[in-house]
Amino acid sequence: MEILVFGAGRTGVKIAKEADMFGMNIIYFVDNNANNASNQKFFDIEVVKPNDYRLEKLKSLPVFIAIAGNQNSAVSVKSQLEDLGFINIAANLDERKKYYPDAIVNSKRNPKISHAFASMEITTSIGCPVGCKFCPQKLFVNKYKSIDKNAPLKFPLNDYRKCLDAIPTTVEICFSGFSEPFLNKNCAEMIKYAFDRGHPVSLNSTLVGLTDKCFNYMQDVMFRRVRLHLPDTNDYCNIKVTDDYLKLLDKFLSTIQSEKFIYVSHDNDTPAAVKNTINNSPYPYVYPYKLEKEIHDRAGNLDNDLAPCTPFLKGAIYCGKGARMPNYNILLPNGMVLLCCMDFDMKHVLGNLLTMGYEELFECDEMEKLNQAFDDDKMELICRTCAWACNI
Ligand code: SF4
Repeated sequence: MEILVFGAGRTGVKIAKEADMFGMNIIYFVDNNANNASNQKFFDIEVVKPNDYRLEKLKSLPVFIAIAGNQNSAVSVKSQLEDLGFINIAANLDERKKYYPDAIVNSKRNPKISHAFASMEITTSIGCPVGCKFCPQKLFVNKYKSIDKNAPLKFPLNDYRKCLDAIPTTVEICFSGFSEPFLNKNCAEMIKYAFDRGHPVSLNSTLVGLTDKCFNYMQDVMFRRVRLHLPDTNDYCNIKVTDDYLKLLDKFLSTIQSEKFIYVSHDNDTPAAVKNTINNSPYPYVYPYKLEKEIHDRAGNLDNDLAPCTPFLKGAIYCGKGARMPNYNILLPNGMVLLCCMDFDMKHVLGNLLTMGYEELFECDEMEKLNQAFDDDKMELICRTCAWACNI
């Protein structure tokens, strides 16, 4: 589906990401501040003024308004565009959503999907002694070992480099996966390698396993996003608040550079000493999650009753993270790539980056089956019981 996006700014980035996820093709960014004489581009797409002659034949295309500020600004832009003859204008998310079902149906296996907003989560180690209560760790470890008892438990550095070299640098590399990343002593070196290759890099961590040596590798790294899982007063997240932990947290927050810091507190009540450390840091308390928002049953893989069971979703569905092209994947220490961070039971293996290219992951038989299973609720698909899944 072809669309226009009004607004070539921060909100434009958000909508470009959304459009990419649903396989929509942005023909032009439209902006009142466009400088047509300079062939201005945004995401390699031309930015034109609303009255540009090139838009004359495109006035029936959907226009998604992407401007920051209150809804009144969007309404006033909508009226400006209507005066110019545009007829399908979406001024907010609800209005954009009307176009998604068609876009998804038309974009199954869309070869134009750019993977510009894709991500690959790195599982640096197998087995995580942190043992958070909301993590189906045992299920995953047993499954991994049962598939190949000789598979590495720590990602070998050379194999990691080989896998990364197969991934386009537009793909975000997220150190997270199915275990605490710093439990692999080479994690910081792996982070540096991804950053030096030019990938956007993000990190989800409890800081367990982080050592002083790691900071040397990360001193020049600018993370796109760091999400710290904090200790909590109910011990859902099993991290001990000791003097050493507080010192480490303080050093991390004063040393690591990130465009965004997010704190995850799993019972919404973080120990006071931890809060104080954060409040005195260069990155103050920004975004605490609440327990009920963050803990879910991992698409039915959690074997305790900490989170309610996600009901089975019937009919045609898509993933709220990746639409019909799920490119938010997990890379394991043996090179295997799984569908996503819910797949603790390794039900959907897309391939192995030690032996194949990145694009091949999306052309494999398993992806073909996934595409059918999104429509056919008789086929096996973990998304059916995942909190991220949505009906078309
Ligand atoms: S299991 Fe959930 S997160 Fe994973 S692809 Fe399916 S809907 Fe998306």
